[in-house]
Amino acid sequence: MSTSRDKMRKLKELLHKSENRICADCSSPDPKWASANIGVFICLKCSGIHRSLGTHISKVSLAATRKKKLFDLLDESMIVLSVTLDEWTDDEINSMLEVGGNSYANAIYEAFLPGGYHKPHPDSSQEERADFIRSKYELQEFLKPSLRIVSNKSSLQAMDSRKDIGNASNSYSFKSEAGMVEFIGIIKVKVIRGTKLAVRDILSSDPYVVLTLGQQKAKTKVIKSNLNPVWNEVLTLSVPQKYGPLKLQVYDHDVLSRDDIMGEAEVDLQPMITAAMAFGDPGLLSDMQIGRWLMSRDNALARDSAVSVVGGRVKQEVSLRLQNVECGEVDLELEWIALNQ
Ligand SMILES: [Zn+2]
Repeated sequence: MSTSRDKMRKLKELLHKSENRICADCSSPDPKWASANIGVFICLKCSGIHRSLGTHISKVSLAATRKKKLFDLLDESMIVLSVTLDEWTDDEINSMLEVGGNSYANAIYEAFLPGGYHKPHPDSSQEERADFIRSKYELQEFLKPSLRIVSNKSSLQAMDSRKDIGNASNSYSFKSEAGMVEFIGIIKVKVIRGTKLAVRDILSSDPYVVLTLGQQKAKTKVIKSNLNPVWNEVLTLSVPQKYGPLKLQVYDHDVLSRDDIMGEAEVDLQPMITAAMAFGDPGLLSDMQIGRWLMSRDNALARDSAVSVVGGRVKQEVSLRLQNVECGEVDLELEWIALNQ
């Protein structure tokens, strides 16, 4: 048995402890998500809010304390992972095991919860949830005062956003520098492979993929000297209520100069999201096709792309012909997770 398998088993054991059978933030039963850097198990609704904290929590520093490890991890953006999928890195599993689950994390993050304070409950609105989660982790209002991190602009922004939190029932909101953003779901993009990519260095290229959705960006690792790279890497993005196309760009990593672009393409997310919304909870559906994004002269599809329910999940395989470049295709697999499921 490999060590990472062993760790995954330990993680599952941790998940099965009674304290971790309810969401650390709202007490919903059977949480399926975890914030790997904070070390808590959380429900789907709360996981969306955790994810939205990511772009905000910047440059956190703290004098050495016993709990330093916990805060070191906040330096990175929030990592929210599904406990049912084996996509965890060793570091993420380690940090989860190190914190030790909900009771331990809450003993720190809720140490100074004021008497009479009402934590969110499973039926709380997204606004109540967002308010609490930001107070708890970002502003750290309930932390022992000596452990509190003096954060910079994020506290002010958060204070500001409370007044503005909207009234959408199935989305949550927060105010970023760019203004109000409301998310309706999460899209997981598995960047599978590139085929016949363009040559940018002398004989080959060192390609990587950048995905952009609204203000968010995510990128894959660089694969050295390969025109048919296999990434098999899952990138996760939150989908705002007013979403545009998912933009994909392939670059050639260049140590000496600016990275060269090796083509781009856009993915229309609408066929998948509208089909998923029309069909409702995919967990209740048997495997079937629910929608289709058709190849046309105006889009980058290499062939028609079906939206399907597979094992209770909404998925779509997409093959893209890269645009503004001499050649190259990229294969993706998308998965849609609605926040109101
Ligand atoms: Zn929750």
